[in-house]
Amino acid sequence: MSKITLSDLSHSYLDKQNSDSDWALRDINLDWQDGGAYALLGPSGCGKTTLLNIISGLLNPTKGKVLFDDKDVTTQSPVERNIAQIFQFPVIYDTMTVYANLAFPLKNRGMTDAEIDRRVKEIADMLELTKTLNNRASGLTADGKQKISLGRGLVRSNVNVIMFDEPLTVIDPHLKWVLRSKLKELHQKINRTMIYVTHDQTEALTFADQVVVMHEGQIVQTGTPVELFEKPKHTFVGHFIGSPGMNILPCQIKNGYAAIDGVEISTNTQIKKSNFSKTEIGIRPEFVSFDKKGIPAKILKVSNTGRHKIIDTQCNSGKIKVLSHSSKEIPSGSVFLSFNKKYTYAYGDSWIIE
Ligand code: ADP
Ligand code: MG
Repeated sequence: MSKITLSDLSHSYLDKQNSDSDWALRDINLDWQDGGAYALLGPSGCGKTTLLNIISGLLNPTKGKVLFDDKDVTTQSPVERNIAQIFQFPVIYDTMTVYANLAFPLKNRGMTDAEIDRRVKEIADMLELTKTLNNRASGLTADGKQKISLGRGLVRSNVNVIMFDEPLTVIDPHLKWVLRSKLKELHQKINRTMIYVTHDQTEALTFADQVVVMHEGQIVQTGTPVELFEKPKHTFVGHFIGSPGMNILPCQIKNGYAAIDGVEISTNTQIKKSNFSKTEIGIRPEFVSFDKKGIPAKILKVSNTGRHKIIDTQCNSGKIKVLSHSSKEIPSGSVFLSFNKKYTYAYGDSWIIE
């Protein structure tokens, strides 16, 4: 088991870099504690797989260091790092049986047959593969194969870290839910550092105690699911997490106060700086309400999701979504909107102002 540290890490697949977009990863600094459950969350192309491959040693970073328990492992091979990595698409031996596939990672490591048998059966049971142990892997469906891949990653009990790279992409929706809770359960049981990579906020938020949100090669925020919801440090986090995401509206900042459409908006954090090229207000739909005064807006559409109503409104500066309990009466036509100060933030060039 290991604590993982990434220190001033940057990576580019190009020989020469002229602009930020030539870097797949930029200035990554993070500390992952031994035994933690972490998620790496971000859209396709933001650099998640690149980061995992650098941690496992499949890729050498252009700049910076990787440390395990404060020891520099940047130049160590994947084998020396002793990590289990589970890839997005199944990596298995088609001609072997399911049993042989699961036993394979243990074979070269000097375990007795009895020990191997016990581990294989335990993992097969957990992944509901017991009935197929004697079948050839080639005959299995895509999600059957991915379960073997997961099993191969989980079967070794002495690895430093287990990393999952969008492992449920090919799994059908029902089984997805089952496997996700199993992985969580497994983490609680074996207490090993686990890193779960996904572009799906539900997967990240249910699996992890700490979520690292990535955007265009940078870490924009690390926090608990609640922190990411309640206080997004970057407009991308506000917009990417939550359903619907945060409302982001252009605002004017003068003498430490923000205004939208000429209406002053109170924010949670003090606005000390205003020399930005872009200033915005972020407020989640959960914290907007209809009021007697506030920002004048028009109701465009009301959608009922069962538990909630999502109300699309339009003010001069843009669209604002309101989330309201489905039992609540919704006014019609012209309305005023007010924001709950506790959850209202000002952003300068996309980063929270505080
Ligand atoms: P993610 O896993 O979040 O989808 P990746 O780490 O795969 O993101 O990719 C990050 C960026 O690096 C993307 O712009 C991608 O096109 C680029 N990239 C990834 N792998 C390679 C490669 N082998 N060669 C060149 N560019 C790559
Ligand atoms: Mg990827």
